[in-house]
Amino acid sequence: MFSNLIGNQRVKDSLLQLLRSERVPNSLLFAGPEGVGKKQFAIELARSFVCQTGKLACGTCTACKRVGLFNTPTSEKGDDYDLVFFGEHSDVGIVIPYKRNLRVGAIRALEIQSNYRPFEARARVFIIDDADKMNDAASNALLKTLEEPSSTTYLILITSRPDSLLSTIRSRCQMIRFAPVAETELEDLLVKRRKFNPKDAKLAARIANGQVATALTIDLDKFRSQRVTQLSVIEKAFINVDRAALLRSAEQMNDAKNKDLFEENLAILETLIRDMWMMKNASLPEAIRNFDIAEELERVSPEIDPRQLGAALNEIESLRQSLAVNINRKSATDALFMKIAA
Ligand SMILES: [Zn+2]
Repeated sequence: MFSNLIGNQRVKDSLLQLLRSERVPNSLLFAGPEGVGKKQFAIELARSFVCQTGKLACGTCTACKRVGLFNTPTSEKGDDYDLVFFGEHSDVGIVIPYKRNLRVGAIRALEIQSNYRPFEARARVFIIDDADKMNDAASNALLKTLEEPSSTTYLILITSRPDSLLSTIRSRCQMIRFAPVAETELEDLLVKRRKFNPKDAKLAARIANGQVATALTIDLDKFRSQRVTQLSVIEKAFINVDRAALLRSAEQMNDAKNKDLFEENLAILETLIRDMWMMKNASLPEAIRNFDIAEELERVSPEIDPRQLGAALNEIESLRQSLAVNINRKSATDALFMKIAA
């Protein structure tokens, strides 16, 4: 059990201990950063309740194999999300948010499902993904379910923002805290599973920043080319102070070809600025994400005032907050670039 999952050994140990002593709480809250594998751990825990061999998930019996994928919709209709989604196993389900909301309809559907006896397994397991996306109505509906748990139903709430949950919900769940995955573990994964050479593995692991999901999907060629573009933004903003060129970059960042990569590109720009800021503050080399181009960053950074870099990081953070409330992205990018170009 857990042998295919990278990192978070402490979580593995405590879940195994709970399973072996048959004291797994009926309500669990998996909290920790995005991309560290919380959902994969939840699925593995679910397997341990359906496995045909005994207490722990063997991973190879037909029941274990049937757990993992869920038939979740891709539709644009909110009502389509007012359901518990199952995969091939009728005792393991998931509710997911529609856009930024985990709908009350979905939680009510979960309440009904959670009262059923297991169809074939020892227990039923339901995963509540992005649990922090519940509004008050959904939270209150869930509280009702948490207050009267069926002994054969397990609920696993997943969140990267546990503080956004109602305290009454938090207090009814046992919290399991996930940590970022160590860089060396990610490097190992990249060399073994993706056949990266050691140098690329080191860069990809550093960029992934503790996230298994990112390490497993990162495309380094694409990353490097996006980074060249963002480096040119830095030159235009801090060295040449070329506002017309910056507005063209803002336009390009939001055009049809790049609009889906917007947040990724913004994150790359942010790490470049942060790296330069850290270098000026004599940080340890391990703290520099783009260590492979450190010389290039060192070459441009003497011309930039560190206060300007700090201010730019703040501007990027506030842009990100306003994006969460749906502002016009193109004009926000224009404004950002004009502000950081002093
Ligand atoms: Zn099994």
